[in-house]
Amino acid sequence: MEKDRIPALFGSNVFNEDAMRRYLPAEAVSAWRDCLENGRHLGLPLANAIADGMKNWALEHGATHYTHWFQPMTGYTAEKHDGFVTPAGPGRVIMDFSGKELVSGEPDASSFPSGGLRATFEARGYTAWDPTSYAFLKDGSLCIPTVFCSYSGESLDKKTPLLRSVEAVSKQAVRILRLFGDTETHRVIPQVGPEQEYFLIDKEAFLKREDLRLCGRTLFGANPPKGQELDDHYYGAIKPRVAAFMRELDEELWKLGILSKTKHNEVAPSQHEMAPIYSDVNTACDHNQLTMETMKKVADRHDLVCLLHEKPFAGVNGSGKHDNWSLATDAGKNLFAPGRTPSQNAQFLLFLAAIVKGVDDYPELLRCTVASAGNDHRLGVQEAPPAILSVYLGAELEAVIESIVGGTDYIDPEKRQMRIGVDILPHIPQDTTDRNRTSPMAFTGNKFEFRMLGASQSISGPNTVLNTVMAEELRQFADFLEDSNAFQEDLHELIRRTFLEHRRIIFSGNGYDSAWVAEAERRGLPNLPSTADALGAFLLDKNVELMTRHGVFTRQEMAARHEIYMENYCHVLHIEAMTMIDMVQHMILNAASHYTSCLCETIVRKREAVPGISLRVEEALAESIAHLNDQLLSETAALKSAVELAPTQTGPETLRYYHDAILSRMNTVRAIADQLETLTASDFWPYPTYCDLLFSV
Ligand code: ADP
Ligand code: MG
Repeated sequence: MEKDRIPALFGSNVFNEDAMRRYLPAEAVSAWRDCLENGRHLGLPLANAIADGMKNWALEHGATHYTHWFQPMTGYTAEKHDGFVTPAGPGRVIMDFSGKELVSGEPDASSFPSGGLRATFEARGYTAWDPTSYAFLKDGSLCIPTVFCSYSGESLDKKTPLLRSVEAVSKQAVRILRLFGDTETHRVIPQVGPEQEYFLIDKEAFLKREDLRLCGRTLFGANPPKGQELDDHYYGAIKPRVAAFMRELDEELWKLGILSKTKHNEVAPSQHEMAPIYSDVNTACDHNQLTMETMKKVADRHDLVCLLHEKPFAGVNGSGKHDNWSLATDAGKNLFAPGRTPSQNAQFLLFLAAIVKGVDDYPELLRCTVASAGNDHRLGVQEAPPAILSVYLGAELEAVIESIVGGTDYIDPEKRQMRIGVDILPHIPQDTTDRNRTSPMAFTGNKFEFRMLGASQSISGPNTVLNTVMAEELRQFADFLEDSNAFQEDLHELIRRTFLEHRRIIFSGNGYDSAWVAEAERRGLPNLPSTADALGAFLLDKNVELMTRHGVFTRQEMAARHEIYMENYCHVLHIEAMTMIDMVQHMILNAASHYTSCLCETIVRKREAVPGISLRVEEALAESIAHLNDQLLSETAALKSAVELAPTQTGPETLRYYHDAILSRMNTVRAIADQLETLTASDFWPYPTYCDLLFSV
């Protein structure tokens, strides 16, 4: 029946608990659950039983292969497929899959970024099953989510540190809960709902643009007459072709058990958003990777291309990813939900104090988690939060904090200070309409919305750091409070002192305003506008101490990651500069020259035919275009020499060089080419224009 179609479809490609119950012996299911809940080791016999059940399920669903599915430092996912086929006597095969093959793998990993962690003599990487994330089916393969590490156990991926950070924050949060008399909670699990923005453009136009094909963004393109100024696209009626894409996307995601919930048009023309219902952070991270991949695949089937780049088009909004983050107990209680009793409120305020202090203690590290060449184009550019970390709490909570800190009369007309653990918090509206969209880290009723993420990035890095920062602040609080003899007084004093010392990070004004940059500087908040500025802070002592103390990274793992981030930035800029040079040399110079010569021929012919005829249009155009083309040639040559002179070793100076010497020259080249585009007749311009790209679907 149609009404049962979606519920039946949902999760049909996932080896979830339902499938486990049907395909596994009962003892294997409980062993799996024991492994999950108590970290108990799964012996080989049970791993064999699980592998066999998984294989039978996969074969019945048409699979022929299996793959360990992992998330290397490229930021994408990786898979290497092995068939289930196994020889079984002369000319015969059976379909086989063992517990050993389920639990671990040894892919050749020599071509994944390792930041120098993997010695060349040990090219293999090792994958190990992550039983906390369900296996699933994709394109005829059984995909088994795994972590990925080197021979000596250093993590080479985005999943391992995330899982470690979940353990870290859980451990410290449970300590705090015990102090408030909670004896039931065993685990605290970060919950995340990532809102994914994207562009959809026509495939035919996309294929004609070398920049989009190679870099994912346009390197040229004059502003179209119309952009987003009428606000007519945001939440506008969805066009049939886009609606068909969204419908198919939803169904594909539902099959994978992804809770795709909200879809709408975004601010820029051709820009859209999908938000799933939140889940535990590990699942959310896997699902977001699958979502991005599925968006691209489904778009292709509709002759569309899905762009996930942070800034595909200059002059209109780019795409970000809002990371909605909270902490919940294993019983599902949200620790950022203000409570109804004084004690619940005290606990809420303590968690709130922890995050306020955390953002103020580690703003550079949080900034680093969203630093990339692509995201540099949007952070701080009037469309996304500035590159300065701050926290928005809303008027009600800010007033409460003022009252705690200053002993003013928020609650009580008798100018009494709010007593934590005694007084009840005023009502805090969940969804105030005036909530600040310009804040990088906004409290939205019962969760924080970290808004600095770029659309294409893995959400693992930011959440790993958020979890670990929270773990550290809760650790400090727990250390202090566990030693206390007067819990209520010390708790009150701790919260008061924390807000007092860290209130500078709280900001509820307009983050897009340039006055905020000056104000933030007065407050002593770091402003790291570009990736070249930010990455220098990644290895600050306090950051290394934080991550190593909680067992999330070793010092070497951090150094390796730093290296990979720096390399990536330089590679991206190098590719963009080379693409730009290629486009100028092969197409743009020639197109402009061709058009000029056409104008000149016209001039000659007109003059011959009608002596004294006005030649103003042709002469003015030919003159301007020839002049601009001249400039384009010299500036492109300058860009080319700058690229040739770029240092080759990875390091902060190379980053600086790419930022200062290459990016600025690219901007100059672009400005000239864009002027040429506006002067050149459409028939001669070799690339689809912004108008073609943004308004053709
Ligand atoms: P908006 O665009 O107004 O920010 P959306 O509905 O598009 O809101 O997205 C909000 C996201 O926050 C959704 O993914 C939602 O599931 C998620 N979310 C809601 N509550 C929580 C929570 N307690 N923890 C984490 N994420 C949450
Ligand atoms: Mg939204």
